[in-house]
Amino acid sequence: MIVMKFGGTSNQDVAAMRRVVKIVHEHRSQAPVVVISAIAQATNQLEMIARTAATGDREGAEEILTDLFARHGTIIDNLLTSRANAREIEGIIHEYVSEIKILVQGVAALRELTPRTTDAICSYGERLSSRIVAAALRESGLDAVWIDAKEFMITDDRFGNARPLMSHTSRLLHSTVLPLLEQGRIAVTQGFIGITQTGRYTTMGRESSDYSASIIGAGLNARLVQIWTDVDGILTADPRIVEGVRKINEISFEEAFELSYFGAKVLHPSTMVPVMEKKISVQILNSTQPGSGTLVSIMDDSSPRVRSIVVKNNVVALRCAPHERNDQYLFWEGIYNVLNRNGIPLSAIATSEYGFIGIFDERYLTDGLQGELQTLGTTSVEKGLSSLCIVGSRLPEVKALMASVFAALGSATVRMISFGASERSLLLLLQSENIKGEVQAVHRALFAAGTA
Ligand code: ASP
Ligand code: MG
Repeated sequence: MIVMKFGGTSNQDVAAMRRVVKIVHEHRSQAPVVVISAIAQATNQLEMIARTAATGDREGAEEILTDLFARHGTIIDNLLTSRANAREIEGIIHEYVSEIKILVQGVAALRELTPRTTDAICSYGERLSSRIVAAALRESGLDAVWIDAKEFMITDDRFGNARPLMSHTSRLLHSTVLPLLEQGRIAVTQGFIGITQTGRYTTMGRESSDYSASIIGAGLNARLVQIWTDVDGILTADPRIVEGVRKINEISFEEAFELSYFGAKVLHPSTMVPVMEKKISVQILNSTQPGSGTLVSIMDDSSPRVRSIVVKNNVVALRCAPHERNDQYLFWEGIYNVLNRNGIPLSAIATSEYGFIGIFDERYLTDGLQGELQTLGTTSVEKGLSSLCIVGSRLPEVKALMASVFAALGSATVRMISFGASERSLLLLLQSENIKGEVQAVHRALFAAGTA
């Protein structure tokens, strides 16, 4: 069996959904489990609905909901040819919308929005889109069954960033999804969402449908996990920033992991974890232009090489120097405790005798975090930074890597460097103003000579 995940842009409208149907048809003999994301922007709209309701503006929230409903309605009207089918799905979608309205009323009345309610509201995006895809697949003659992720995707209760309870999830995948595949049916389910053991919908973080596909693949021991998206695969850099990027045909699990960790948008950072353990290959493919894509698998990555450059914007640097120069380890322990308590996912750190610098995504920065760190040392925060990360294998041995990178960066101000913890990445922290030119220059320097 295989898992086929389609992202938001791969099912954003009628044409895109038709492509999904065609692609699933082409893979029907491989016992696919189809994992669907919400249609493009739907999760943003649902988040906005929740936030608008929390201000007490129920009408404003309902206006956005009406738009979301209409977008799905247009797809149904134009995609499904049988009126009976269209009416059935419209009925279900109507019901979902009524349920969202009840949640909106509650939030607006209380002017209070908990992560749990946000997740309940956001869970509808994937449920709406997957209903439509399942119906379209059935209309096309495939025996597709819609299955709610709540039947198997059991998670902890960290709403907004839930993690799967793998042994429960695997067991349920075997009892609910596997029998469908064994009957020759195609299972259609949702990415992004799960359920707690007490029956509350959770989400696993933005863009986490890739992660869902990987969890399902690992749980069912799939032969392959396919991620259908809107780019040709993993590229040497982001094509929106850099000209002349190249597609990487094959990449190792570890390299793909580092790329997603340092911000490559093509894969959610947690995606590689479940599949790596089971050595299940991942294929990244373009749904608008199916080609060979990129295959992530066990492969020989023992020769020194650079594979790709990833840039992440909106990065903050947090610096802390202890009030008293006592025990280094106690100071660092204190810092890590604070960062851990505040759930800060660090991208990289550097330490000197007593100083600490850690970098992470700006959205995790809170006054509370800074306040707690002030008790340990003099704390400062610098915003408006970007990380530029070069990913590959055995980087310390890549000939003249540092010389090429620093020559390309010219007079750029490098705020921090992280290198050596793994031989697979070199991270440079830069100011955001000139980042576009800088990444272009580094890409030219590293890939112009055909080293990819
Ligand atoms: N729909 C979710 C999001 O937009 C999950 C995903 O698309 O992967 O974040
Ligand atoms: Mg994605």
